[in-house]
Amino acid sequence: MKVNVLYCLCLLVISGCLNAQSSFENYFTNSTMRVDLILAGNTHSQAAYLKEIKKEPIWGGSNVNMIDTLGYGEYFYEIRDAASDQLIYSRGFCTLFEEWRTTEEAKYINKAFEQTITFPYPQQKINLKLSERHKDGSYSSLMELTIDPEDSNIRNVKTPEYEVVEIINNGSSASHVDFTFVAEGYLSSEMDKFKSDVEEMAAYILTQEPYKSNRDKINFWAVCSPSSGTGTSNPRKDNWQNTAVGSSFNTFYIDRYLETGSVFAIRDIAACAPYDHICVLVNSKKYGGGGIYNHFSIGTSDHPMAKEVMLHEIGHGFGGLGDEYYTSDVAYQDFFDLNVEPWQPNLTTMVNFDKKWKHLIDKDTPVPTPVESKYQETTGVFEGGGYMAKGVYRPAINCRMKTNEAKGFCEVCQASIVTMIEFLSD
Ligand SMILES: [Zn+2]
Repeated sequence: MKVNVLYCLCLLVISGCLNAQSSFENYFTNSTMRVDLILAGNTHSQAAYLKEIKKEPIWGGSNVNMIDTLGYGEYFYEIRDAASDQLIYSRGFCTLFEEWRTTEEAKYINKAFEQTITFPYPQQKINLKLSERHKDGSYSSLMELTIDPEDSNIRNVKTPEYEVVEIINNGSSASHVDFTFVAEGYLSSEMDKFKSDVEEMAAYILTQEPYKSNRDKINFWAVCSPSSGTGTSNPRKDNWQNTAVGSSFNTFYIDRYLETGSVFAIRDIAACAPYDHICVLVNSKKYGGGGIYNHFSIGTSDHPMAKEVMLHEIGHGFGGLGDEYYTSDVAYQDFFDLNVEPWQPNLTTMVNFDKKWKHLIDKDTPVPTPVESKYQETTGVFEGGGYMAKGVYRPAINCRMKTNEAKGFCEVCQASIVTMIEFLSD
């Protein structure tokens, strides 16, 4: 019987691979369909509006793993073949907008934010469904669209003529993770500095686990997008710069929170190269950054902790990891509902800990785990995380997702990043 079960499993695995591969060839082409949206609303409600649909020349994502198996993100989109209703692509993501919705000002005013979703360019008509995740974990539909890939009003984009540099190229974009760096606040005369900054950043990332052990699955690209202003805007100093993607410190009035709402500009530049994840490198000495899942990561080039910060932000942007700190000044209020298990793989409310890192906890480790020196290197369940001192738990006393002084990512964060690398490099 065992042999039969194994045989069936092998068949399933093989046919699963074949289905995934033929799914790309049957339904998609090697360019990108980009749907530009406006997300607008306030604390209480939100809506999505279609702005424009574009065709971009390069598809940089996986050709195999079309269907999202991770379930991360505050939003989720599904692409179905319109004729058969078969699900052919899905992904989750987060936005700056949903963070803003948890701030005090969102109780009183409405705001609109740019958002872009991408998927390989379909061969036939598709149905796109965009859903929002509610605090209780349930989803509801924000937008449903039927898109004909032959529609004459789909803008056929010619990408900007920026120099694109292969910083590290280990092979085909379809079977590798592509980190693509966009230059922000570099003058056209400073592009040698940008390239060397990206080289240094890539070299550092590849010394850190789990990237170090998976380095052969990763590519790095640099798109040399020049700015007419230098560095980035710093509103607290009344310093406003005209830069490639309009980034700024003081996002949500938090000095170190470096972000930009110019999502369309970032995507325009990134379209010059294949990408699984976009990193915006800001030519600045100041401390700061931001990272939003499947959106982009952003950090500065020249602060002494810039590399640790970028690695942390990529933890959010690429790995879907949550912040393991809870004492710093943030603008968010009640970020997690303690009655719901958060989707972030490195945080738990213990509502459904079985599906988190319970399997990594030694039987002799108490749960919750006290913050004592003997547990310094132990994977446990430590109270405090996700901006909340009580009710949210993290896997380690210290981790790259908690402080810049941590030695690296904790065991749980490393395992989550490996899962993402494998998902995107199949
Ligand atoms: Zn961690």
